[in-house]
Amino acid sequence: MTTPQTIYITGGAQGIGLGIAHTLLTGGYRVAITDIDEEALSEAAERLPRRENLLTLMADASNEAQVVHSLEKTVNHFGQLNGIVHNAGIADPFHGPVEQLSLETWQAYLNTNLTGAFLCAKHGAAYLRPHGGSIVLMASSRALQSEPDTEAYAASKGGIVALTHALAVSLGPEIRVNAISPGWIEVGDWQKPSRQQPVEHRAVDREQHPAGRVGTPYDIAALTRFLLSTEAGFITGQNFVADGGMTRKMIYAE
Ligand code: NAD
Repeated sequence: MTTPQTIYITGGAQGIGLGIAHTLLTGGYRVAITDIDEEALSEAAERLPRRENLLTLMADASNEAQVVHSLEKTVNHFGQLNGIVHNAGIADPFHGPVEQLSLETWQAYLNTNLTGAFLCAKHGAAYLRPHGGSIVLMASSRALQSEPDTEAYAASKGGIVALTHALAVSLGPEIRVNAISPGWIEVGDWQKPSRQQPVEHRAVDREQHPAGRVGTPYDIAALTRFLLSTEAGFITGQNFVADGGMTRKMIYAE
C-alpha cells in the first residue's frame, strides 16, 4: 500500500482553501491547513470529512517563523510532505483610490498574497524534493485585467504569476510549480458561520460568464488536485485561468 500524500494549505479555514481541503480529504489525502482565524479553523475542523487525516495549525503565511514552524509540525505529524498550496490571501481586491492607498495597506497585500508564496517555497522545498513534490500558488484573473482601485491586489497576483515560472525553473525537475488564476468564485457558503452570507446571484451575474455561472471552490479544488497529482507531471511554470471564460470575452459598450 502506498502512503497517502500530504498537502499543506495556507488559508485553509474558509473559502477556496476550505474547498480544496474538503476535496483532498475526500480523495484520501492527508491535509494540514493553516490560518490566522482561530474560530474559522476550529469550525473548519468540525465541517471537514476524515478528520483523522486533518491537522489544523494557527500560522500567519506572511510570517517566516510561523511558516517554518507549521511546515515542521506538518512533517512531524504526517511523516512527509508532497504538496503545498499557497492560497492565503487578502481576498478583497478593493482598497480605494491609489492616491490614498497607505504604504501599510500596500505592504499588507504584498506580504500575505506574494511573500507568503515565497516563504512556502523557500521553506517547503527541502521537504518536497525527495517526493517529487508540487506547489500550487493562488493568483487571480486580476493578475491579467483590472477594475479601478485594486493596485495592491493586482500587483500581488501578477507577482505570483511571475514567481511561479521563476520557481518552476529553479526547483525543477524535482518540484513542479503552477499557479491558478480564479475568476469570480462564490465563497459565501464556505465562510465560518458568523461570516456566512446568503448567496444570491442575479441572472446577469451568471449569464455574463461564457460558462453560464459563477464559480465554486470545488471548481478550483478540482484543478488544484490535478496539478498536485502525478498526472500533471509534464506541467510546470504555468498559470491556469479558471474564470468561466470571462477573460476570453471581448467587451465593447453597446
Ligand atoms: P477567504 O477570505 O474566504 O479565505 C481566505 C482565508 O485565508 C481566510 O480563512 C483567512 O483567515 C485566511 N488568511 C488571510 N490572511 C492570512 C494569512 N496571512 N495567513 C494565513 N491565513 C490567512 O478568501 P477566498 O475568496 O477563499 O480566497 C482565497 C484565495 O483565492 C486568495 O488568495 C484570493 O486572492 C484568491 N482568489 C479568490 C477569488 C474569489 O472570487 N473568491 C478570485 C480570485 C482569487
